[in-house]
Amino acid sequence: MTSVLPDQFWMPFTANRQFKADPRMLESAEGMYYTDRDGHRILDGTAGLWCCNAGHGRREITEAVSRQIARLDFAPTFQMGHSLPFELAERLSEIGPKGLNRVFFTNSGSESVDTALKIALAYQRAIGQATRTRLIGRELAYHGVGFGGISVGGLVNNRRAFGPLLPGVDHLAHTLDIERNAFSKGLPEFGAEKAEELERLIALHGAENIAALIVEPMSGSAGVILPPKGYLQRLREITTKHGILLIFDEVITGFGRVGEAFAAQRWGVTPDILTCAKGLTNGSIPMGAVFVAQTIHDAFMTGPQSAIEFFHGYTYSGHPVACAAALATQEIYVRENLFQKGIELEGYWQKALGSLAGLPGIIDIRTVGLVAGVQLAPDAAGPGKRGYDVFRHCFENGLLVRPSGDTIALSPPLIIEKEHIDTLFERLAEAIRKTA
Ligand code: PMP
Repeated sequence: MTSVLPDQFWMPFTANRQFKADPRMLESAEGMYYTDRDGHRILDGTAGLWCCNAGHGRREITEAVSRQIARLDFAPTFQMGHSLPFELAERLSEIGPKGLNRVFFTNSGSESVDTALKIALAYQRAIGQATRTRLIGRELAYHGVGFGGISVGGLVNNRRAFGPLLPGVDHLAHTLDIERNAFSKGLPEFGAEKAEELERLIALHGAENIAALIVEPMSGSAGVILPPKGYLQRLREITTKHGILLIFDEVITGFGRVGEAFAAQRWGVTPDILTCAKGLTNGSIPMGAVFVAQTIHDAFMTGPQSAIEFFHGYTYSGHPVACAAALATQEIYVRENLFQKGIELEGYWQKALGSLAGLPGIIDIRTVGLVAGVQLAPDAAGPGKRGYDVFRHCFENGLLVRPSGDTIALSPPLIIEKEHIDTLFERLAEAIRKTA
């Protein structure tokens, strides 16, 4: 294959040779649409990569960023400060789950996950539980690409080339069960039963050796896997009973994706630590955050006043330009009531999604809020081929979707209107028919 692009950019999570021979290049974006290099308008069915929840080209964010970069382009936050991260943390603690009112800033979801795991380990030590060094993740989980994240993560392709990873990590089974559950409405029924496996791991290792359990309340990257009924509640009960911290990775579910600010609120379960990124700045400037229960934070604040309490942080933690983007973004979310959109439009979204049933090759459809996963039977040529073909046909037909293996994930900007929903599903149906 001959590359039609300069070869020097090593693209992430991409079949580089295939892409560079036949690229899909975006040039601009506004509202619900991207425009590609040839001037075609592409309906954004994925909010970029699950991040542009307020839609593209938001003038308020552009202006806040350009004002900030002119006033204070960078300022350290190690033993120095500026007002914006203080203001942003205060604002975020108002929309986050109750009690999670201390905020550590990072630059990405992966950094948020590694930060959360480090806080969990250091906290257990700080309260005299130094034997609690084990971490538990789940099969099929995606927690970014740091060594911590891939260790607790459960996607084999993200792990297999990188050696033994972190020691002392175990994984709970995932909760996808198409045989029992295909096309079911609402959350699957078997939640408490799946959560009970945590007791087995605790019995195996001893609770006194386990620091934390990390879960995505809804798995996104593995193809939209919903938490079964009672699952998160039961995980919360078991972790509390055994002194194990519960971390929710809300990098995808945060900022309105499932119809509340966070999935923790939608499903009424409060973790001890919560990670986010993406929608924090509407994807405009890289930034992540970790919400921490005040009790956990306060356990670090006990030594001499002059001592650094937590030896962790990034050059860009609380970066002024990222903070300005985040503050402008949060203002839009509140002013336009976007966190409620996933509830308001859920019925219409589900009905439109239901119109796909009966198309060839679909083996399951899963949805909550403004997210959906349409799972296709793998092509004879191997897993992932059909998903990629549908993605390609959608793009050619003016729709951006996200293939995850053979599942097509949808997560449009929350500014979506009913007409966009109709267009989205018409184009997706066409691509599925064409691929079959
Ligand atoms: N956690 C989850 C649940 C994610 O979905 C992602 C990214 N899709 C990450 C972490 C990693 O985020 P980033 O790519 O910003 O490092």
